[in-house]
Amino acid sequence: MKRKTRQISVGWVKVGGDAPIVVQSMTSTKTHQVEETLSQINRLAKVGCEIIRVAVPHREDLEALPDIVKNSPIPVIADIHFAPSYAFGSMEAGVHGIRINPGNIGKEEIVRDIVQEAKRKGVAIRIGVNSGSLEKDLLEKYGYPKAEALFESAMRWSEKFEKWGFYNFKVSIKGSDVLENIRANELFAQHTDIPLHIGITEAGMGLKGIVKSSVGIGILLYKGIGDTIRVSLTDDPEVEVETAYAILQSLGLRRRGIEIISCPTCGRIEVDLPKVVKEVEEKLKGLEKPLKVAIMGCVVNAIGEAREADLGLACGRGFAWLFKEGKPIKRVSEEEMVQALLEEVLNYDGKGKV
Ligand code: SF4
Repeated sequence: MKRKTRQISVGWVKVGGDAPIVVQSMTSTKTHQVEETLSQINRLAKVGCEIIRVAVPHREDLEALPDIVKNSPIPVIADIHFAPSYAFGSMEAGVHGIRINPGNIGKEEIVRDIVQEAKRKGVAIRIGVNSGSLEKDLLEKYGYPKAEALFESAMRWSEKFEKWGFYNFKVSIKGSDVLENIRANELFAQHTDIPLHIGITEAGMGLKGIVKSSVGIGILLYKGIGDTIRVSLTDDPEVEVETAYAILQSLGLRRRGIEIISCPTCGRIEVDLPKVVKEVEEKLKGLEKPLKVAIMGCVVNAIGEAREADLGLACGRGFAWLFKEGKPIKRVSEEEMVQALLEEVLNYDGKGKV
């Protein structure tokens, strides 16, 4: 069961409480290149990104924020490191949230001033606690950024924010070590009702990055921890968003678009299944229907194996059975099977079984 957390607002998007787990990402463009940045934000929003974070490392990025905020279809969070003046500038520019690692902002009074300005302007804050920017005294105390050190840093700043009368914040505790990351988030979740943004930082590229993120985020979500997620990959942010939904979908927490299930293939296979699956995936991309579609490599076990699907294909040599709710409805040739399946998907008026 999901951990009970208090709800905060990042612009018009609610995080925590009874809100669905929010998917977010970060642009990879140079923020000051407004057109490129907005075009990436629009692409991300189309695949389901609900909050976007942009880096603000230079003055020109800060100056681009009003345009970006005004034209973004989703709330914008400014990512600030080391430069408190950019935190104030971003809030002035109208961002809906800022992310700061208090450990690298400087004096406590400056952090307090940022918090008070956020309160005045109704801006949300994400307190970032990262293994790479942990306070010196905690590193000395614990020797390395272990879970207890990350947890202590997160608690320290959360308590200060609350003492200053500010509650519209969430916390992220991120380490690149999956197990320490899980432990630190668990510790924090046991002690507070503050919403958690979860993710594995520097997860890496391709398959390894996806697996590392999925394991870390998946375990936490399974334990009911996590109000918003970002999958961090050395890849196109669209892949981050798609991976985030795949994680949420596999745990039954959220779903987006059509779920395609396909058989693992074996010696009975009679068709180039990866090619068929890829083609169907491409053609159904962006279609919002709560459907499960199965694509199976042979007719021997396929219909039984895919009984849980709403629609599907059981492929044979040169033909396929098209089936609906577990029953074969039409035999089609190999050339027409993808098209026949797509038509059936578009015409499907059942509510789906999931
Ligand atoms: S559906 Fe057929 S081809 Fe696919 S794994 Fe099962 S038996 Fe093998």
